[in-house]
Amino acid sequence: MSRIVYVNGAFVPEAEARVSVFDRGFLMADGVYEVTSVLDGRLIDFAGHAARLRRSLGELGMAAPMEDAALLALHREIVARNAVVDGLVYLQVTRGNPGDRDFAYPPADTPPTVVLFTQSKPGLAESPVAEAGWRVISVPDLRWGRRDIKTVQLLYPSMAKMAAKAAGADDAWLTEPGGVVTEGSSNNTWIISGGRMVTRALSHDILSGITRAAVRALAAEAGIAVEERAFTLAEAQAADEAFATSATAFVMPVVEIDGVKVGDGRPGPLTRRLRALYVAEMRRAAL
Ligand code: PMP
Repeated sequence: MSRIVYVNGAFVPEAEARVSVFDRGFLMADGVYEVTSVLDGRLIDFAGHAARLRRSLGELGMAAPMEDAALLALHREIVARNAVVDGLVYLQVTRGNPGDRDFAYPPADTPPTVVLFTQSKPGLAESPVAEAGWRVISVPDLRWGRRDIKTVQLLYPSMAKMAAKAAGADDAWLTEPGGVVTEGSSNNTWIISGGRMVTRALSHDILSGITRAAVRALAAEAGIAVEERAFTLAEAQAADEAFATSATAFVMPVVEIDGVKVGDGRPGPLTRRLRALYVAEMRRAAL
């Protein structure tokens, strides 16, 4: 089925959607994005994604293309037009089309390019992959120094994902010298030891995950201790449980790291509980 996508004010069949070859997103990866999950036709944590979009745009000196209410209306309309039950809405905003290629930014009044499309993923929350958990490998984190900005510069994360696939694994954990974990290829990483949850503190080194924030709040409500600090691969391999969070993977158990089983090599009990809590709370609060 051909999708209806949104490009700069119009909903069009995907085959008719056009963006200029001079678009800064195409030439310079000069753009930001958000991915908002959809369950039962409703948006998961839209407010968090809208706030982070605003922040990413601000860090790059770009104006927000519209108010949050208009953005929400667009998200709802594209979900409805494509009859998405479970899946996601992808949103990208670039610095637009200056009409030529130049390293300097175009004038501030150059209209941004705004694109939205949907992906349908039936049964997203009941993924069999979450029952098995992910096996991950480690790769050096060779990304740039502003990982807190959600840019469309995703070549290195793609390379990391391909390295994982080539190794027969599900994802890659990115590490700094000394084996310190930053995050996964497209998710935040966590370990649990002695009932305490550990995840890296926010900084320019990682993306401030919307799912990370929700899981942190749910853990606090449930009286589970959360420590925000860096941890190493060795610490993760020796942990009781490990998991990753993202808008589309939710809370994903990690059962093996570089060939070493985490715990007994099966999704841990606290991870499973957090996943169930997260999915239930997100379904309840969905817009
Ligand atoms: N880190 C990176 C590098 C990511 O690409 C993502 C997914 N966008 C995340 C973390 C998780 O963020 P969120 O929970 O908002 O999807």
